[in-house]
Amino acid sequence: MSPARPPRTGRTQPVAIRRAPAGPRPGEVQVFPTDQPPEGATSPDARPRLSFAVPPARGKAPRHLADLDLAGRKAALKDSGLPGFRADQLSRHYFTHHTRDAAEMTDLPAGQREQLCAELLPELIHEVRALRADGGRTIKHLWELHDGVRVESVLMRYKDRTTLCVSSQAGCGMACPFCATGQMGLTRNLSTAEIIEQVRHAARLSAEGGLAGGPARLSNVVFMGMGEPMVNYRSVVAALHRLIDPAPQGFGLSARGVTVSTVGLVPLIRKLAGEGLPVTLAVSLHAPDDELRDELIPVNSKWKVGELLDAAHDYFRATGRRVSIEYALIKDMNDHAWRAQMLADELNRRGSGWAHVNPIPLNPTPGSIWTCSEPGVQDTFVDTLRRAGITTTVRDTRGSDIDGACGQLATEVLNQEKAKRR
Ligand code: SF4
Repeated sequence: MSPARPPRTGRTQPVAIRRAPAGPRPGEVQVFPTDQPPEGATSPDARPRLSFAVPPARGKAPRHLADLDLAGRKAALKDSGLPGFRADQLSRHYFTHHTRDAAEMTDLPAGQREQLCAELLPELIHEVRALRADGGRTIKHLWELHDGVRVESVLMRYKDRTTLCVSSQAGCGMACPFCATGQMGLTRNLSTAEIIEQVRHAARLSAEGGLAGGPARLSNVVFMGMGEPMVNYRSVVAALHRLIDPAPQGFGLSARGVTVSTVGLVPLIRKLAGEGLPVTLAVSLHAPDDELRDELIPVNSKWKVGELLDAAHDYFRATGRRVSIEYALIKDMNDHAWRAQMLADELNRRGSGWAHVNPIPLNPTPGSIWTCSEPGVQDTFVDTLRRAGITTTVRDTRGSDIDGACGQLATEVLNQEKAKRR
């Protein structure tokens, strides 16, 4: 799932003004998502098309160590006539030293190194483009997979942590109208190893000093890149194990540094709560009322705000992890003080201290409905939540000068390549 920071559009058409459905002050302006075609739409009549169908993959990705648990890796080596116990060493090279280069594995017999790596460490993703921002503290990658499909990841260095935002799908079927990825539709799910390879590259780059500020340890992974992770549930849960399980099974990251973000697939939130993986759940809410959220997050037509917050609260009770509520502040659409109060009331009604709200400021985009709130309006929104006892932290947005919203880099590169072919 993406961080849902709406992209720049440069659209200049006038925005129709409607009145808010409930709770507004008289004369308050209410902009709705349907006041403008979805991002990237080719027709003015286009409407978001929610889809849960996962198209079949065009050919299977080569078998990779990160797709398998340790027993599966041993069995795979044995099946290929290689000693199964080498799976342990191979896994430690991969998860601890972040390498798939046979030449670096000097503790393996010279005559077997190449074959062992060929069996379980094929190349799954290669870099198409890397863009730097924020003085070199942010790097956005565009990756190409074995079948030519492209996905993005973003590596960000903060004072106290280094975080990777990964993609879990190529494209997305959730059709959020502000999101470039959502308008592409879903191409396919990523395999567990295709997700984990994004992490392995980032861990290596960080350790080698690829980010400004010198070598760093990758500490956090957030599933907020391309795709809705819950739609690719099985691969994502296996990826969570590779992230959290200690070497040689996985990277051994702290579960509290791993976040799965969702637009609200309620049954799968409940299923994740039962997996015994105490990762953080982030809910991309963006509106506390169904009338607005039905248009802003199309999956709300299936699971309403109340059901979603009930599931999120149950997730907190099952895992002990405070839930993050993501809320992109969009001018005159969802940034009204009464909506902040409604959100606080909905959260407080279910208990105190179980959720943390992250308002996300957008870029200023004159002429588009997807633009930032006035500074005073943002302050009032945040103050309203805090006065109601809700822990609230305005999110630091990164990579805003490198098309930071999910899907924008992939779309931009595709357009450049098409232009070259013309
Ligand atoms: S369309 Fe998909 S990738 Fe984009 S914001 Fe919605 S869930 Fe996230």
